[in-house]
Amino acid sequence: MSGDRHRMVIVTGASRGIGAAIARLTGACGYRVAVNYNSSPDAAAEVVRDIERSGGKAVAIKADVSREEEVLRLFDEATAALGPVTALVNNAGITGGSGRFVDMPADRAEEVLRLNVLGVALCAREAIRRMSTAGNGPDGPGRGGAIVNISSIAAVLGAPDEYVLYAASKAAVETLTVGLGKEVAREGIRVNAVAPGLIDTEIHAASGDPGRVDRIVPTVPMARIGTAEEVAEAVLFLLSDAASYITATVLRVTGGR
Ligand code: NAP
Repeated sequence: MSGDRHRMVIVTGASRGIGAAIARLTGACGYRVAVNYNSSPDAAAEVVRDIERSGGKAVAIKADVSREEEVLRLFDEATAALGPVTALVNNAGITGGSGRFVDMPADRAEEVLRLNVLGVALCAREAIRRMSTAGNGPDGPGRGGAIVNISSIAAVLGAPDEYVLYAASKAAVETLTVGLGKEVAREGIRVNAVAPGLIDTEIHAASGDPGRVDRIVPTVPMARIGTAEEVAEAVLFLLSDAASYITATVLRVTGGR
């Protein structure tokens, strides 16, 4: 594939936090960006404005990516507005709230697995259908591309007493990354994951544990929280041709944790 100016990326959950940082950075680097959101239209519009101010092109698209019909519409609308998809960042994710595993309601467990695992799988499937050079997409052969899935260091730490099912959902994301990366390696598509550690976003407060960051920072070897922009840099690298021989792998962005 040629330079970044010909690339289009769909970033799920790009209205806030890590997804917003990924959208802004890829947009500033010449990708046309589909800024997916679910419940924060104003925040998504602000991300689009930021990308446009940096000279880029972006559209905000509302879709709950845990629902198949909305994933299909997201890809159709993104393609209609910005041209063929060449990259996907599967970023949207929820913890389901902090607490002991034994107390977890089944409906919340279903929400976590639906978004963090099924949503990632459905978006990856749609991206592969469109990008594969093997030609099984709606418009014939694709031009290849790259997928980056956002995992979490919780996949290996397990997140005991916080969100064990969330950790397990991220382990599933990593296995999906390895398997898919190998499965589509000969179809011009690379699939990798970034596993962030403790990153400064609203996810911690939203999990109902506002003291979490202060409690965990001392356990981080670099002794600080990471920024969403630091995660975005790793994603940009894995999407780019600089990572042309890297697939089916997980890159940790954890300050050593
Ligand atoms: P965040 O600040 O809570 O933002 C979550 C984003 O996901 C929002 O843009 C939200 O959009 C979107 N979203 C939620 N449900 C969605 C749905 N059903 N469909 C589409 N979008 C949806 O979270 P974050 O901290 O940036 O986390 C981003 C990713 O990084 C997640 O996968 C998370 O597990 C992972 N991660 C985060 C950390 C950390 O310390 N922050 C560490 C490791 C991994 P709306 O507001 O529009 O609904």
